[in-house]
Amino acid sequence: MIIMRTDATEEDIQRVVGEIERSGLRADVSRGEFMTVIGPVGDERRLAFDHLATLPGVKEANMVETPYKLISREYARFFGEPGAHKTVTIGDVHLGNGEPVIIAGPCAVESRAQLMRIGEEVKRAGAHVLRGGVFKPRSSVHSFQGLGAAGTEGAEEALHWLRQAGDEYDMPVVTEVRGESMVELVARYVDIMHIGARNMYDQDLLVAVARQQKPVLLKRHFGASIEELLSFSEYIAAEGNKDIILCERGIVPMGKGRSFTRYTLDLAAVPVIHNETYLPVIVDPSHSTGRRDLIFSMSCAAVAAGADGLMIEAHYDPSEALVDGPQMVTPDELEEIIQACRRLHVLAKRT
Ligand code: PEP
Ligand code: MN
Repeated sequence: MIIMRTDATEEDIQRVVGEIERSGLRADVSRGEFMTVIGPVGDERRLAFDHLATLPGVKEANMVETPYKLISREYARFFGEPGAHKTVTIGDVHLGNGEPVIIAGPCAVESRAQLMRIGEEVKRAGAHVLRGGVFKPRSSVHSFQGLGAAGTEGAEEALHWLRQAGDEYDMPVVTEVRGESMVELVARYVDIMHIGARNMYDQDLLVAVARQQKPVLLKRHFGASIEELLSFSEYIAAEGNKDIILCERGIVPMGKGRSFTRYTLDLAAVPVIHNETYLPVIVDPSHSTGRRDLIFSMSCAAVAAGADGLMIEAHYDPSEALVDGPQMVTPDELEEIIQACRRLHVLAKRT
């Protein structure tokens, strides 16, 4: 849609119409009392909206169609989708439109013994999927980067432990893929490929991961709007892979004073995303708050808001963890959270 300024001349209007027509589209000109609006009819991908916006007399030039058609609830009927809720199936786990699926485990895989013990304990607590980072995204190059930093051999060993722990305790496993060079290696070992918040905007990584044809967990960047999260998940869907799990993990806090939490958990994102797309959405209360004492309440709130699952960092002894100890819950705490969330889910469904 091209909105002309109130002082746009007939010549300005005709120039825009001409440019639209040269791109092979039709221009629908609507003249109001104060301004003229021009609607292009046809394949909008052929139009350079940024260029149209610079033409004389143009106030605004924007795409009318949603940038995330393939995953949109509204457009679902044009793409053969049921349009209700998508369930992403990972082995015996069904994520979406059912009981909340709990993904739990350490921030980072640190040793075989650590992972095996955590695997056993989170399974007993009621978790469905085991997580563990092999390639950690860190702000400082001087901090622990995950065992994947030790080269392919170190990465492969840690991925192998993750696979073993998942098989031993009958849980699918998920780990983060931090770059394109790691995609194939990670795909050999895990059931869900996780794209971290910092990489949400990396469209080449999104495409490479999508092509593995495995479920993808895409986290919202901490500075991204919901529209951007949905638009970038469209890169995965455009590769023919719609097994996408979206994850709200907190956005950058505002103001100058203390925020008291690591990020600001945007729980309204859950019903908003459900309204926009049929894809499932989960919430990560661990990275969003950074605080163990808030995981219970934020998990409950997320489930009450309709989250299809939770990703929670857990450790038998959080003080031992090399990364993110302050936000980790113990397996006993995890069990309490899971039970409360199950009860809440039943209640939320009933109402
Ligand atoms: C993680 O889940 O391990 C992680 C680093 O989270 P995020 O990408 O949301 O910061
Ligand atoms: Mn972490």
